[in-house]
Amino acid sequence: MLSKKFNKVQLGHLPTPLESMPNLSKRLNGPNIWIKRDDTTGLAMGGNKVRQLEYYFGKAETDGCNAVLTTGAVQSNHVRQTIAAARKLGWYVEAQLERRVEGRKPEYNTSGNAFLDKLMGAKLHYYPVGEDEHGADKAMYDRAEELKEEGYKPYVIPLGAVGKTPWGSLGYVECMEELISQSTATGLKIDGIVVPTGSANTHAGILAGLTSLGADIPVYGFCVRRDKVAQTERVLTKTRKVLQLLGLDESLVTEDLVNCEDWVLEPGYGQLNDATEEAIELAAFEDAILLDPTYTGKSMAGLIGMIRDGAFTEDQNIVYLHTGGAPALFGYPELVEEK
Ligand SMILES: *Cc1c(COP(=O)(O)O)cnc(C)c1O
Repeated sequence: MLSKKFNKVQLGHLPTPLESMPNLSKRLNGPNIWIKRDDTTGLAMGGNKVRQLEYYFGKAETDGCNAVLTTGAVQSNHVRQTIAAARKLGWYVEAQLERRVEGRKPEYNTSGNAFLDKLMGAKLHYYPVGEDEHGADKAMYDRAEELKEEGYKPYVIPLGAVGKTPWGSLGYVECMEELISQSTATGLKIDGIVVPTGSANTHAGILAGLTSLGADIPVYGFCVRRDKVAQTERVLTKTRKVLQLLGLDESLVTEDLVNCEDWVLEPGYGQLNDATEEAIELAAFEDAILLDPTYTGKSMAGLIGMIRDGAFTEDQNIVYLHTGGAPALFGYPELVEEK
């Protein structure tokens, strides 16, 4: 297994189950929807960052670090899971919360992930507005310099795509090894994989993982923050870096393998829309699957839209990768208050 070449720490409850969503599949009259339960990776309510952090902390350990810094939105699942990983491993941790989403209810700032961050007791910094990814990363690197002066050996987990090695994507190379062995064991032929895509670490790991396994399965990535053109570029760049890490030919990934969709993005990152609300409600009502407003609700809305557009046949098997995020639901009380 290619992912075994790299140092990692053990954080997750793995492998995660691959389950069916019989009721939603029936309701939509479309393909068989399967769900890879990466919302159940454990570690302080789980999610896709747990697999990524196993490799980020592995790299940081190799580099001799003892402190970690990261950044994310106020309701970032990544920040919550990073703090949890640091707590479990006994590392010093600081996190920066970016005020990316405007006009939210007060609960957005106090509940869900924001609540859990405080409960686990990390030192938090705030980064003013929105979409300045480079500025947000730079603020953390500056803070890391200060921590060095205090005697720490800090490791920064950046979110940006430029010039950084996406170590965390190795967690999704490993996830594909897991998924393909589950499908082989059960005789399930997978006809497509649907995933939300943000920093693109997950999407890139999936593409590199499938490529390394020689598995020819289309992957549909629903972007939650950028348009299709920008996200396609980002996914390509990161996938090439992961292929390089694995010692594979980076030209194995081409633009037409990326399949980024952006039609559930509006009105913006962390903002609900009708399709997303419907997807969250349907998944909860039909199969007791809890999705979130920022990532999984949007990618499920995308899958539902594709099914209604007749993109799949009834005998096909589509795997929806559940990347977690349900704690953020508590920051969106209007999902039920208005009912
Ligand atoms: C971070 C996150 C994603 C996006 O994953 P990336 O690796 O950043 O692209 C998707 N879903 C949830 C719930 C997340 O927290």
